[in-house]
Amino acid sequence: MANLNIDSKEARSFDAIVIGSGMSGGWAAKELTEHGLKTLVLERGRDVRHLKDYPTTNMMPWEFEHRGQLPLDVQKANPIASRCYIFREDAAHFVVKDQEHPYEQEKPFDWIRGYQVGGKSLLWARQTQRWSDFDFEGPARDGFAVDWPIRYRDIAPWYSHVEKFAGISGNKDGIAELPDGEFLPPHQMTCVESYFKEHVSQRYPKRHVIIGRCAHITEVQPIHTEQGRGKCLNRNLCQRGCPFGVYFSANSSTMPWAERTGNMTLRPHSVVHSIIYDEQKGKATGVRVIDALSKQMTEYYSKIIFVNAGALNTNLVLLNSTSHRFPNGMGNDSGLLGKYVAFHNYRGRITAEYDGYKEFTTDGIRPNGSYVPRFRNIYKQETDFLRGYAATVTAFRHSDQKREGVGSSLKENLLHPGLGHWRIGSQGMGETIPKETNYVKLDADKKDDWGIPLLSVSVSYDDNDEKLLKDFFEQFTEMFTTAGFTNIQTSDSKQAPGLDIHEMGGVRMGKDPKTSLLNGWNQLHACKNVFVTDGACMTSTSTQNPSLMYMAITARATDFAIKELKKFNI
Ligand SMILES: Cc1cc2nc3c(=O)[nH]c(=O)nc-3n(C[C@H](O)[C@H](O)[C@H](O)COP(=O)(O)OP(=O)(O)OC[C@H]3O[C@@H](n4cnc5c(N)ncnc54)[C@H](O)[C@@H]3O)c2cc1C
Repeated sequence: MANLNIDSKEARSFDAIVIGSGMSGGWAAKELTEHGLKTLVLERGRDVRHLKDYPTTNMMPWEFEHRGQLPLDVQKANPIASRCYIFREDAAHFVVKDQEHPYEQEKPFDWIRGYQVGGKSLLWARQTQRWSDFDFEGPARDGFAVDWPIRYRDIAPWYSHVEKFAGISGNKDGIAELPDGEFLPPHQMTCVESYFKEHVSQRYPKRHVIIGRCAHITEVQPIHTEQGRGKCLNRNLCQRGCPFGVYFSANSSTMPWAERTGNMTLRPHSVVHSIIYDEQKGKATGVRVIDALSKQMTEYYSKIIFVNAGALNTNLVLLNSTSHRFPNGMGNDSGLLGKYVAFHNYRGRITAEYDGYKEFTTDGIRPNGSYVPRFRNIYKQETDFLRGYAATVTAFRHSDQKREGVGSSLKENLLHPGLGHWRIGSQGMGETIPKETNYVKLDADKKDDWGIPLLSVSVSYDDNDEKLLKDFFEQFTEMFTTAGFTNIQTSDSKQAPGLDIHEMGGVRMGKDPKTSLLNGWNQLHACKNVFVTDGACMTSTSTQNPSLMYMAITARATDFAIKELKKFNI
């Protein structure tokens, strides 16, 4: 009978609690449940079931009421979300609307969020590169932030672990600063990308142009079949949710896997208010949850807690977890919780044309592009700014007029597009330096609809970011010019931090509790049964897209936690 009493403390007690069910939380859920831990996954948003809850996935362009655009009143009501390219008619239902979840901006910060089971893993662009020791050793070598407590060798096996399961396509390029992974067959470069690759390798031997490494199944392995996922059909409509489960998302992969173990209890509409700290036991014992719909508060208990609410929300949960022992937020003995937030500098874009290869065109759609790994300041400091930038590179040939017109003229344009020059475009992805002055904190007065203080964000660019951007423009202008590209145009979007959607830090890892919040296993130094393995844990940002790191570091930390639990027979 006890099991039927859903209000009993026993029924609300688990081996593990995972806060957030997105990219990183999904991995925590998968690993913990697979190893037999009864795991409660708390997700503030609604449930989104693979296949069933992808309403636009098979819609044809003409079936959208506004041809893909969102009506002006929706755009005007959502100035922040509207700045993100993903906020369109086919995927807007997966993006947080500005009014629904306000936050305070001491300085402009575009916080793009997805509050639902799967989080932003439904929406991401799926680019996945490994870090190398040139990244892990960056802070120590260049004298910023603190030294990472781990190195590439610590994370390499976990990269392999998540890559095999998620399915990452790519080419083994043998580049020291961008280690190869467990790749499925790569996508192909277009002929102008290949031409540029060839040019760069001849003229700039230390620079590389490679095909993007991305979380798409290009060749199904048994582990993917077991997940019910198939081969990429190059629809490039991933942000709608893929009916074939091709691109990696928590919804198509880790969450259903965790569910199948029978060890997961998923509770959507569960806003975690704070973590409960037991002063006598000297550890966390559970979490306070506000039901998003009824606004009732309930406590849930567990032996270990994984905080995977998405970098800034993880900061919020910890800052709001106050107790006699931790008056300024859980684990915050150093006073650094919420500080050293960083991001990626995505302001720079450059485009050009190529008057050649007219006998070729692009056909079909490729859900990927090419990539230039960081080449600045790798082996030694060589510029007047720290660190560097990676860049996307995509060359294509089709007409802007392709989708113009209505009825027969639209058909005509689609069937016989007037082909112009090849065009090439690149976006810089710069590392930013974490600084104490870039921080988040709880607003002293304002609360959200659930009675939780609003997050206040104070994050901005600095002189290093400006110099880095200038160098990106100069170097790519030179590389494009020497490659014979014409009509080269640079543009600085001047976008606010946040729109890169790679916010990181605030709960950084480090060796010393005086200067960091987490140890080398992602445990809070001061409360060892709380683990933080999303972007909040990042000590520095490097230039790589971050999600592969969050997945790998989550899998590594869960393995450690499971072994610790067994060791102490808890
Ligand atoms: C358009 C777009 C393109 C992107 N492209 C790339 C890319 O190419 N490569 C890459 O590496 N990354 C990319 N990203 C970023 C990537 O999506 C994130 O890095 C990743 O999803 C972060 O994982 P996470 O688990 O930290 O957060 P999320 O995936 O956002 O999951 C966090 C979850 O926690 C829940 N939550 C928050 N607060 C609470 C609370 N208090 N209680 C309970 N639940 C809570 C949220 O609702 C959410 O479901 C992109 C993102 C977007 C939107």
